[in-house]
Amino acid sequence: MGINKGQRFGRLTVLAEEGVKDAHSYFLCRCDCGKTLKVRDNKLTGGKQISCGCARADVVVRAAARFRTPPKRRSEIARMGSDALKKD
Ligand SMILES: [Zn+2]
Repeated sequence: MGINKGQRFGRLTVLAEEGVKDAHSYFLCRCDCGKTLKVRDNKLTGGKQISCGCARADVVVRAAARFRTPPKRRSEIARMGSDALKKD
């Protein structure tokens, strides 16, 4: 599986191949926030690392936003969920 310079994984852009260690290639990546970091190949291709760590903060923000959905909508979703369970 190839990882090319300039390829993007989430917020990370591959700048250069750093080298191989323990049978894994490491890539120098730049995050959209400006940080650079070394990331192992399988973390990039597996989607395990999509930022320098700042995307994790985003996920928390997004999850919090989801909880702000109006209560009515939330109960609708809950009802749809229980209906789906009853069908089984
Ligand atoms: Zn970042």
